[in-house]
Amino acid sequence: MSDRIRLESVTRIHRRRAETIRAVDDVSVTFRSRRVAALVGPSGSGKTTLLNLVIGWDTPDEGRVFRDESVDRTWQGLSVVPQGLGLVPDLTIGENIELPIALGNPRRYRSEDLIEHLGLGGLVDRRPAEVSLGEQQRTAVARAVICQPAVLIADEPTAHQDEHNSDRILAVLLAAGAAGAAVVLATHEERLLDRVDEVFELTEGRLRQRHPVVSDVDRDDRGRREPDGGGTPE
Ligand code: ADP
Ligand code: MG
Repeated sequence: MSDRIRLESVTRIHRRRAETIRAVDDVSVTFRSRRVAALVGPSGSGKTTLLNLVIGWDTPDEGRVFRDESVDRTWQGLSVVPQGLGLVPDLTIGENIELPIALGNPRRYRSEDLIEHLGLGGLVDRRPAEVSLGEQQRTAVARAVICQPAVLIADEPTAHQDEHNSDRILAVLLAAGAAGAAVVLATHEERLLDRVDEVFELTEGRLRQRHPVVSDVDRDDRGRREPDGGGTPE
């Protein structure tokens, strides 16, 4: 287990005319390989702002963000399931899933396995506009894990899912963590939280850890990290 991304006393202030909002307020946190961290908090509590700082799409007003050298600007270094999904509308579902490969990143999962694990069978030749929002979101999850990134960031990745499909997505994220990624997901789904390693609560930009960290020995004993069908990467 190694540190992949570390935030030290990070503050981000959004300014809109006379109004200033401390969307992220003096947050220090470390995200490590082989760990799945959940970020919970009400709408507007700063989850997306914090994730954008972790990703590097935004920069802090105060404090610093440290990234391991494995966390480069490729899909293999850091992959994102954005809140807005970010699928390419002119590509098919299959081509969207394979986009990181087409851009030259090495493959770690077979598309067929991801399509099965995420219930996307029969949709690969359609374009995003021709599938449901939930299916689009599962496509974005498949695209984010296909290269087994060093860091995987997912912003409310189960927001458009029923329970069964939420479980499928969590299984894929847990598998990515078990295979070595540092996984960070923002979520509202309390029922998912007992399956992740660490839970951080955001309240008006302030972060506090909820669960004690689960030991690696306990984690390895649980055998709960295979997606349906038991596929492993490679
Ligand atoms: P969450 O993802 O938890 O819903 P956000 O990080 O999106 O929260 O937003 C945190 C706070 O910052 C909210 O009050 C939101 O309105 C505000 N905010 C987010 N982005 C901007 C922006 N670009 N400009 C001004 N205010 C923003
Ligand atoms: Mg958000």
